[in-house]
This record gives sequence, C-alpha cells and structure tokens, in this order.
Amino acid sequence: MARITLEFPDGSKREFAQDVTPLSVAESISNSLKKQAVAAKVNGVLVDINRPIVQDAQVEIVTKKDDAAPEVARNTAVFLLSAALKQKYPAIHFGEQAVNNDGFYLDTDKAENQVSVDELSALMQDVNKLIKDNAPIERQLMAKEDLVARFSDDPYQTEILKSIDSVQIPVYQMGEFISFGEKALLPKASDLKYYQLLSVAGAYWQGKSSNPMLQRIYGTAFMNDEDLQADLKRRAEIKERDHRTIGRDLDLFFVDPKVGSGLAYWMPKGATIRRTIERYITDKEIAAGYEHVYTPVLMNLDAYKTSGHWAHYREDMFPPMDMGDGEMLELRPMNCPSHIQIYKHHIRSYRELPIRIAELGMMHRYEKSGALSGLQRVREMTLNDGHTFVALEQIEDEFKKVLQLMMDVYKDFNIDNYTFRLSYRDPANTEKYFDDDEMWDRSQGMLKSAMDDLGLEYYEAEGEAAFYGPKLDVQTKTALGNEETLSTIQLDFMQPEKFQLTYVGEDGQEHRPVMIHRGVISTMERFIAYLIEMYKGAFPTWLSPVQVQIIPVNNEYHLDYAQELQTRMRKLGLRVEIDARNEKMNYKIREAQTQKVPYTVVIGDQEVQDSTVSVRKYGEQDSSTEDVSMFVDSVVADVKNYSRS
Ligand code: ATP
Ligand code: ZN
Repeated sequence: MARITLEFPDGSKREFAQDVTPLSVAESISNSLKKQAVAAKVNGVLVDINRPIVQDAQVEIVTKKDDAAPEVARNTAVFLLSAALKQKYPAIHFGEQAVNNDGFYLDTDKAENQVSVDELSALMQDVNKLIKDNAPIERQLMAKEDLVARFSDDPYQTEILKSIDSVQIPVYQMGEFISFGEKALLPKASDLKYYQLLSVAGAYWQGKSSNPMLQRIYGTAFMNDEDLQADLKRRAEIKERDHRTIGRDLDLFFVDPKVGSGLAYWMPKGATIRRTIERYITDKEIAAGYEHVYTPVLMNLDAYKTSGHWAHYREDMFPPMDMGDGEMLELRPMNCPSHIQIYKHHIRSYRELPIRIAELGMMHRYEKSGALSGLQRVREMTLNDGHTFVALEQIEDEFKKVLQLMMDVYKDFNIDNYTFRLSYRDPANTEKYFDDDEMWDRSQGMLKSAMDDLGLEYYEAEGEAAFYGPKLDVQTKTALGNEETLSTIQLDFMQPEKFQLTYVGEDGQEHRPVMIHRGVISTMERFIAYLIEMYKGAFPTWLSPVQVQIIPVNNEYHLDYAQELQTRMRKLGLRVEIDARNEKMNYKIREAQTQKVPYTVVIGDQEVQDSTVSVRKYGEQDSSTEDVSMFVDSVVADVKNYSRS
C-alpha cells in the first residue's frame, strides 16, 4: 500500500499508510490524544477526524481544548438544527448559514408561524432527540448536477449551489437529511453536548431589502460545559448592559431604518438626560473660558473645498445639494469651518488669544450602514465641539488645559475606564493627509512631549489621525467589547493656513494662529450610549429622567399630599412623577425599580398624618420613613453633588 509522509507542528515527520485518518494518526501518538481529538488541520484546512488523508501533508490534531474546536461543534450544531427543522417542517428552506467566533446562525423560511424565540427550547428538544438517536453522519462527494436536482424546490440552496464552482461537492448525510458544503463536523451526533439556541431575528436573503425576509436562528456551541456557561454568562451581561436594549426598556430613544438609518429619535426621558448633559457641559465650558455660539448645519460647499474636507473626507459626507441657482450646499460633517467663520468675522489681536469657541454642533456623516449601532454610531450627531485658536507658544499650555477639563468632566461622570491613544498619520499612506511632512513631525512630537510631561500613559496608533493633524484620543470599550473614541484633542496647523487666519501680534504684524479641535464629551449620541452602558441604565440622580416616583397608596386619600410634594420638589428643579394608575401598589413599586428611578416614595395614611414619606432607594430592599423636609433636602443635595456623592 502506498505510503505518505505527515509533518507535525513540532517539525517531526512520520510515514503512514495512504488514506490514514487523523483519528488513527492521533491514536498512533497517544491514547489520550485520541480521546481529546475532535478534528484536524490538514495543510491548515479544518477537516473531519475521520477524513482520509490522501497525500503528504502538514497535520495538526485539533483537540477539545484548541481554539478551532468550537467551530467543529458549531458546524455540527447547525447541521443537527437543520435536520431537526427539516424533520419538523418538511417544506422548510434554508438560506445562509454561518459559523464564526461569536457562535452560529441559520436562516430559514418557515413560512407560516415563523420560528419564534418561544419555540427555541422545543427546537432544542428536537435536536436533543437526534443527538440521542445518534445516527451516523457521513461525508461523501456528490455531483453538483445531482445536488441541483435534489434541491430544485429550494430557491436559496439552488442559488448557493450556483455560486459553487466545482463539479463534485462534499455532502454530509444523516438518514434522509443532507447538507452540502466544505466544513468539518464531529463524527457522531452524540458528540455534540454543549450547545444553546439563543435568539431569532429577521434577515433579508443576501442582505438585500428587496429580497424576502428570512428568520435567522442564532446559537452557539462548545466542546465543554465550562466554556458554554462562561459564554452564556458573558452574553447575559452584554444584554444587560447593551445601550440599545436599555434604551428600549427605559424608553429613552429609538432608531428606525424605516424613517432613516442612523437617525436617532430622543424620547422625552432620553431627551431629559441629554438636556441635563448639554446644560452641564455648556456651563462647565463657559467657566473654563469658552464662548458658546450657534452656527448653521448647512454651508456652502466651497468652504469644505477650502478646508480640505472635500478632498480628504468626501466619503463620509452626504452628497451636496444643488440649489439650482449656482449655490451648492453641504450638510456639515464637522464644525471647524463654521467656527473659523466666527474667528474670521473680526480682526483678532494677540491679547485675545487663546480664543475658545464652542458649540453643541449638529453634524452629518454618511457612515456605512453596517457600522451603524444604536446611538454609538449614527449619521446625525451633535458634538460637544470646541475650537481653540492659539499662538504657537500657547499650544502646550492650552493642550494641558483641555486635558484637565476633560479629566474633571470624566470625574463628574465617574468615568475611569479609559486609555489614551496618540493617533498619528499612516506613514505608508500619506496622500490621505494634509501634505506637509515637517508639520506632521512637529505636531506629533508636540503631542507626545506634552503627554510625557504630564506623566500620562498612552499608546501610539498610526493611521488614526485626522486628515489635518494628529490627535489625542480617549478610548473606551462598549458593552459589546468594541473600542470607541470618546473624547479627542487635535492639533491643526493646516486649516488656519487654508483659511488665511491671522491675528495681530505684539509687533503689530499679522501672525498665523494654530487651531486645537477638541470634543470633551464626544457627541451626545455616543456619550449617552456610553453612559447607559456604564450605569446599566441606573443613572445617578442628577442625570435620571425621573428622580422621584411618588406612589399614593389610595388616590382618594393620598393624591393631594402627593401632588403637593410634587409641586414643592418641581419648584426646586427636581423631576418628580406621580403614579396614580389603578394598579396594585406592589406592581407600581416594582415598576419604579425596573425603570431604575433613584427614589420611590410611598404615601399612605401614616405619612399624610405625620408629614413624612416612606422612601425606597433604587437597588435597596428596604424602605425608611423620613421627615418630608429632610427628604426633599437630601434629594437636592444628591443632585448637587453629581456622581461624587
Ligand atoms: P470615529 O473614528 O469614532 O468614527 P472620527 O475620528 O471620525 O471618529 P472625529 O472627527 O474626531 O471622529 O469626531 C469627534 C468625535 O465624535 C469622535 O471622537 C467620536 O466620539 C464622535 N463621533 C464620530 N463619529 C460618530 C458617529 N458616527 N456617531 C456618533 N459619534 C461619533
Ligand atoms: Zn474641528
């Protein structure tokens, strides 16, 4: 019999009979390896543990503990799930299926009675039955034309087959059920032990909204229970923190592609949080020497040609509007050119510098639809923007001031989980940036030495700069684990040049100022998404949309007192609601807790008689009786203290 040579990851080589299976190879190495083996990588390709190896190859046995093992479990889970669905609904068709680091999904078109989340546990029972029956799963090659005939009633599989460019296609078969495609499965159904179906969502066939909507069933699978349990726990935590889920549950905002992808609607409660933050940051900036302005979201396209946005940032901009009279208007993607107009409107003297212009500036960016995510990445956003115009020698001092302001603000919000990133231009791709090597070297060096001076830790990233200059970015993590930029400070020598900005120096001559672009708390959208996730929706009192929820035990006897208290607290600027619905008191208390209201106040006979309130703080089990005036004072103090209380 012919022999083949296999090479192992440690570089050793051994001869085997041709058509040896990875399982036999594993057995020849050790019995324990055989027990742990779930698949193999042959020349880097993941294959079944029983698939014969036909020629010389590099072979790596994949064990239960290997990173590649979950993929095999997930392929098997998708296979068994489709088999179970086919058995239950013989007319079902399957669209796309995928296995990835996050689990797996399978698209189905179960026409009537769509597969619902409620059905997932019954479906798992069906899969479990297949696992118990443990019928063999066999791999073979089938002629493409036979497969086309076999799947002729399934429009999606037919389409997928069309896109496969081979005459022979691998097929996995269990009883009557077959599924095609190159993949690696576990040898027996009963080898799949640790899997979970997770959720169902609509997904258009091929991702196109003109195509039929299919149901996508999501799940995951592992080779051991520990990993599965850890993953389920992680998912539960993400769900609990995901700002989109909380935003819906607390009725803060919504984004609906039917009325515009990436365009957020702020419901009254979300708007209250936003207004509170806008007032806060405006006051904070005014105290730090900024002058707040309002400028239009529309601007003549020529300004963006001058600024360089049109040349370097066009992909992210909405198409210009041709007004038909020669005027081209553009929705602004950044506020810099607008603030430059404010600067240019007067002759500026060195005595005025630094000039700090700020605005809650609304801007529009045409983000890719796949990148949009709740409030984190939107197409219309309002940036807490500011541009400081400084003389060259003021850069470092001003940079430190901005950084200080930023860190003060972070403290007020209790944000401490962030890292600094110095974002440089990509030296291999310099045409994407303003063309002035000397300027880049100088400004990148300045940022770095300012950070070193302050003794702050940072990491450096090439290719993350703005097209006009380097940045200091403040990086945070979303609930889903993605890194996002929150705050940013950017040095810019270019736009002052392009717009011919000047100030009159002590010498009576004209000089060029430098611009520092800075967003202290980012866009309202991204910042609030971040806060929702950080606080898990339980905002500190000063930010809570409803700070006090009053529940009268009996509307007939206690409503007047409740209303008096509400009026008194509202006059102090507090946000107080009364729940006077005809519902059981315990139900109302529970709801105030799920709405994460900081103070729930119950008013009954005793409270009315004694001028007290029965207060329960969010997250606490017990309530306490307090004198009404003392309670009011304590809430006022709580709000004043921000999160530092
Ligand atoms: P990113 O790399 O995050 O897309 P950027 O570097 O293009 O951002 P800047 O021009 O620096 O962003 O914008 C200022 C700030 O506005 C960013 O630091 C970020 O916090 C926020 N931001 C940018 N794009 C969006 C968006 N699409 N949705 C919400 N906030 C955004
Ligand atoms: Zn700017």
